[in-house]
Amino acid sequence: MKILAIGRNYTEHIKELENEKPEEPVIFSKPDTALLKNNAPFYLPDFSNNIHYEVELILRIGREGKNIETKFAHKYYDGIGIGIDFTARDLQQKAKEKGLPWTLAKGFNGSAPVSEFLPLSDFPDLNNINFGLLLNGEERQKGNSSQMLFSFNEIISYISRFILLKKGDIIFTGTPEGVGKINAGDKLEAFIENKKLLEVEIK
Ligand code: MG
Repeated sequence: MKILAIGRNYTEHIKELENEKPEEPVIFSKPDTALLKNNAPFYLPDFSNNIHYEVELILRIGREGKNIETKFAHKYYDGIGIGIDFTARDLQQKAKEKGLPWTLAKGFNGSAPVSEFLPLSDFPDLNNINFGLLLNGEERQKGNSSQMLFSFNEIISYISRFILLKKGDIIFTGTPEGVGKINAGDKLEAFIENKKLLEVEIK
């Protein structure tokens, strides 16, 4: 399986990192070794002094597809969950300044904690899903799928023009504002609506 992600998909988050609003989706990937499942703890790596959390709604691809039209894209995912796109912001900043890829800043071991996936039937309106993140019990991020610049269907359609999507692939759909640094001893808790689906202890 593979993990694909979109950057800069929420206006207020683009502002907080002083990025430009994209005309086309900004796509990057993480290797399968980035996955962190079953609320496993995250161990801070030695190559960064500034690992940020980014809470994101995630999609699970349910069938193979390429060149998927936006209007049919809803048929290609079968689950929605919550994930954290851990980012080594210091490495990413260096890469950005030099115009270099984000692979290491985004793809290191354990950089993609994910929850279980809920069936689409759990969601009455996919364009109105609330989600959020607590750091040590305090709310740090709060978003709604209606705030995305590119919708779930547009992201899937766009990626599938370049990359064959396969059953079991996971797509991170972007983070709202409020990203910040994690430290050893922190506890992150991620929610969809009022349901806690993911917990990560930082070691
Ligand atoms: Mg992200």
